[in-house]
Amino acid sequence: MTLITPTARMHASVHGGRAKCLQRLIRLDMPVPTTVALSFDAVREIAKGILPDCKTLMAPFGDQPLLSVRPSSQDPDWGGPSAILNIGMNDARHAQMVGEMGEWAATVLYLRFVQAYAVHVARLDPDEFHMPQEADAQSLRAMLKAYELETDEPFPQDPGRQLVETLRSMARAWDGTTARLLREAKGAPKDAGLGLVVQAMALGVGAGECGSGVIQYVSSTTGQPQVTGRYMSQSQGREALSNKARAIYLTEDDRGPALAELLPDVFENLLAYGDVCRRRLREEMQVEFAIDWDGLHILDAVRIQRSSRAAVRIAVSLAQDGIIPREEAVLRIQPSALSELLHRQVDPEASRDLIVRGIAASPGAAAGKIVLTAAEAQASAARDEPCVLVRRETTPEDIRGMHAAQAVLTMRGGVTSHAAVIGRGIGVPCVVGASDLTIDRKKRQIIAPDGRKFSVGDVITVDGTTGQILAGEPAMQEAALDTSFQTLLEWADDVRDIGVRANADTPADAQTARNFAAEGIGLCRTEHMFFEGDRLGVMREMIFAEEGADRRAVLDRLLPMQRADFQALFEIMQGQSVCVRLFDPPLHEFLPSDKQGLRDLAEQMALPLPEVTERVDALSEYNPMLGMRGVRLGIAIPEIYDMQARAIFEATAAVRRKGIEITVEIMIPLVSAMREVELVRARVDAVANAVMAQTRMRFAYKLGVMVETPRAALRAQDIAEHSEFLSFGTNDLTQMTYGLSRDDAGRFMSSYVQQGVYPEDPFHTLDIEGVGELIALGAARGRAGRSDVILAVCGEHAGSRAAIAFCREHKFDYVSCSPFRVPVARLTAAQLAL
Ligand code: PEP
Ligand code: MG
Repeated sequence: MTLITPTARMHASVHGGRAKCLQRLIRLDMPVPTTVALSFDAVREIAKGILPDCKTLMAPFGDQPLLSVRPSSQDPDWGGPSAILNIGMNDARHAQMVGEMGEWAATVLYLRFVQAYAVHVARLDPDEFHMPQEADAQSLRAMLKAYELETDEPFPQDPGRQLVETLRSMARAWDGTTARLLREAKGAPKDAGLGLVVQAMALGVGAGECGSGVIQYVSSTTGQPQVTGRYMSQSQGREALSNKARAIYLTEDDRGPALAELLPDVFENLLAYGDVCRRRLREEMQVEFAIDWDGLHILDAVRIQRSSRAAVRIAVSLAQDGIIPREEAVLRIQPSALSELLHRQVDPEASRDLIVRGIAASPGAAAGKIVLTAAEAQASAARDEPCVLVRRETTPEDIRGMHAAQAVLTMRGGVTSHAAVIGRGIGVPCVVGASDLTIDRKKRQIIAPDGRKFSVGDVITVDGTTGQILAGEPAMQEAALDTSFQTLLEWADDVRDIGVRANADTPADAQTARNFAAEGIGLCRTEHMFFEGDRLGVMREMIFAEEGADRRAVLDRLLPMQRADFQALFEIMQGQSVCVRLFDPPLHEFLPSDKQGLRDLAEQMALPLPEVTERVDALSEYNPMLGMRGVRLGIAIPEIYDMQARAIFEATAAVRRKGIEITVEIMIPLVSAMREVELVRARVDAVANAVMAQTRMRFAYKLGVMVETPRAALRAQDIAEHSEFLSFGTNDLTQMTYGLSRDDAGRFMSSYVQQGVYPEDPFHTLDIEGVGELIALGAARGRAGRSDVILAVCGEHAGSRAAIAFCREHKFDYVSCSPFRVPVARLTAAQLAL
């Protein structure tokens, strides 16, 4: 046991956080009552029955002290047994205190102690030991009697025994199974220790204005300066917090005078202590205090609870005031907390009516009426009615519906499924793989695992941060992109040593990327552009064209559309690099699969239905993700890439005429052989030369390869000889390295992870030891082929901590992730560099 003095040796890992903090308050000359700390080891001994000598323990507290014992775990979040106050109360002390402070106050103290001792130390039935309405001699007699009846012995009168029994019961409570599970859930190690602090009581009860309370100096919600807290006359411990009806506020209170008016000097002191805590403890603290005949006592101080938004505001303002260095502010914020600020969230206080749980695929929460098709979502948006698009899984045809919906829910798919990728890209909350939910299309209902039915038009909420689907619409918290947030990220950028770009397909995505200070676009998936507006129809005509000439004619109609898309994108991203990926998906994705769709298509093409059906069948593949897609399509039907290259270069020339400079990069998807690159490069170069000749302009561009097949990684050396950059597409690379379909893995992934087959879902967390090895090897071979080759990662993993750490280690130039992950990636990269 150690008396806490300014010079005592006190460590959070030996005596716990509370003991350490109390010592710091003592060092700051705050009026902290005499306190003795018991170390983790001492408490372990007590739990085994090896009790401390109570004479020595009580010596620092003088004659006839009243004491409190409080837990002091290493991290305050790990909890601990309830504090016990007023140890030392007995019949004699009670009689003496009646004379000093009056019967009521003395009796309240004794009653409280007997009650706490009975429930927490003697472990008697709490129902038998309520605090009585009246604190009088009769109630006290009744409670002492109840204790005797339950234990067959009178209430212990020896303060030493009271103290030792209290210590023993608290030490044992720490070893209980529930307490252990609770703290382990909060990250405590199995062998986490408990310290205890024994402190002289500041009574808070007695003659004159006595009481206790808590105060904090900034808002836990916003982090803005704001004095809040509660104070309650004639109270102890945290009563002012639990008994809201009797508590008064510190500054404004419509139920009576506030502490600021009641005891202005004390209030001023509390404000001054807050300032000292902030400057010297370098934190925003909540201070627990008591007031008695002897004035103000500071009993404890803990870091204030805070929302993510408040955490950012607090860290930035501490750094701006020179209290902590900027680097520390950057390190103090959990990057994942930022995504809470970028999206609306379900209010953490709101009650949740859970329908089903799925995979959290795109963060944020939104509510809306259930719709079951993309067309219904668009109709709903046209009526200004928020809706949630519920699909078994989404396909490119659903994109317009996804844009129109407030949120998306699918029954199938994992974190790299179509719905998840698009949801994240456009910032729409999305939950995928909610496989316990069923859709009854006939009755137009969804059926929850508990049998509850929700019809089209009923309101549900998608919480893409937690993966929960909720009935109705709980209270929400708005996104908060305030100046503190921007400042923190600027500081992060000052220390970061790897680039962060965004995956952006549309002008809206690009604007989001720009708002979040992405350093360019690292992946623009052009095929998404073909689903916009009336382009799908033209695209289908192109697919149905029999002859090269017919196809070229249709592509000529697509050209101005694509050119306009690129122009809009380039104008937003001016001064930066934009990496455009040439067409990637298999053509059948643009064709309908159901009867009605086929009939509509036949009508549109003015062709007989059987012929249309036959053409669609001919295009279908057994394994379309490994079939005619990406560069294979680009080589088999080169007119498509020709059109895209022309659109890109003409857009470059058009924006250049407006004085906008842009670095254009063209990326070839799904490459597996060097010759593919040679063939595409020859045609792209030819188109570039033609456009330069027509426009009488010269512009530079880079051509590179998306490394997403294992063979491309293995052959990176000769591929890099023809490529200025290599961008690793970790979605397909993971799929192909594992031989695991990214669209179907969701079905069994949780069982695989539970059984430890994979440590995590490899589509979610980059598999460093397998896929990572292939990337490292590809990067090294790429550099061997071209020493200045630009290296990047652009799959869904790219914004994660593991992937950024990996990319830094292998000296990659940048990562490219969905626009809403850009701030998270900027902060993560900075923290890794510090
Ligand atoms: C990839 O495969 O990692 C990638 C980024 O491309 P997509 O997700 O479009 O296949
Ligand atoms: Mg891919």
